[in-house]
Amino acid sequence: MASLYIHIPFCRTRCNYCDFYKSTACADTNDYIDALDREMEYRRDYFGSEPVDTVFFGGGTPSVLPPATLQQILDKAATLWNLGHVKEITVEANPDDITDNYLDALTDTDINRISFGVQSFIDRDLRMMGRRHNAVQAMQAVEAVQRRGYDNVSIDLIFGVPGMTTEEWSQNVRTAVDLGVSHISAYCLTIAEGTVFGNMEASGRLIPASDEECEAHYLACHDILTAHGFEHYEISNYALQGCRAHHNMAYWSGRRYLGLGPSAHSYDGTHRTYAASDVKGYIKDAGSDIIYDGETLSHADKYNEFIMTALRTSDGINPEHMAERFGSIGMEFFSGSVKRLIKEGCIAFNGTSYCIPPEKWMVSNDIISELFYVE
Ligand code: SF4
Repeated sequence: MASLYIHIPFCRTRCNYCDFYKSTACADTNDYIDALDREMEYRRDYFGSEPVDTVFFGGGTPSVLPPATLQQILDKAATLWNLGHVKEITVEANPDDITDNYLDALTDTDINRISFGVQSFIDRDLRMMGRRHNAVQAMQAVEAVQRRGYDNVSIDLIFGVPGMTTEEWSQNVRTAVDLGVSHISAYCLTIAEGTVFGNMEASGRLIPASDEECEAHYLACHDILTAHGFEHYEISNYALQGCRAHHNMAYWSGRRYLGLGPSAHSYDGTHRTYAASDVKGYIKDAGSDIIYDGETLSHADKYNEFIMTALRTSDGINPEHMAERFGSIGMEFFSGSVKRLIKEGCIAFNGTSYCIPPEKWMVSNDIISELFYVE
């Protein structure tokens, strides 16, 4: 099974912390859909006969497009690839796009999972982050889609926001639980150069949260959500039973995926391809080779990626899977390098797999880099 990602690089306004690639020029959307169409045709052979079982509309803000347009893209994809086994079709949405009319149209599509960019239920923080919605709108949007029968609803929250206390953050998490969502992604705020927050930090007008505050938020989130039946299945992701994000799981398990749109990545098991991060260039040149760059992954690259993604999940590294993919040499290298980390309590063997204990996930990058194979 393979996965399809479709990038919608438009946002109505730019958030103060955002360094994802996007354009606020929503007027280009018709030209963009034409370009997507050309790219789909160009890459029609990418999956061969392999069925696609997850589709993800990410951004940017896919909900700036009418649901009928998203369905038009899905219909086109279904003429090119085997979508007969699709089990999860997700759209990322901003709460302020959710109106009754929007929901009427959404229920006419094949989309069966909604991922809301909520970020916080505190108006002060939403204003500071430059989000367009307020807390009441976020709650109403979640409740509105649930009333329409969507039971697979995810929300993104951000912790480590300057000035946010651990109690305020914990209340955010509890609000998400009370809303009855099935999946929560909780990310630590990163302040990137070139963003509004980056400029504010550089001029001393924004003091980032300390590592200790971020860690306290992270652990509070883990404690609250696991106490409410959520599985902490990846460093930033929590799900109720049976509600893991299959699309993201596909990335983390090294499956083949095709990404469409500017800045989207694709992976066929050996080669990774990147489309240039330029909406105008994409609109002009989609459907030809010139928008792509890429790399061929060596055996060591694949080993290191496997280590990195598997150890960020609660499933960890199963020795049998490791041996299947990298042979006895890969397993021997891993067994040798993991010994010290086990002694230090940074990795545990649970009888089935090697895992990083959740209380160490905040420093997982340091732990994982100790296990890399360096050529
Ligand atoms: S809505 Fe998302 S992608 Fe768009 S500017 Fe805000 S954070 Fe960035």
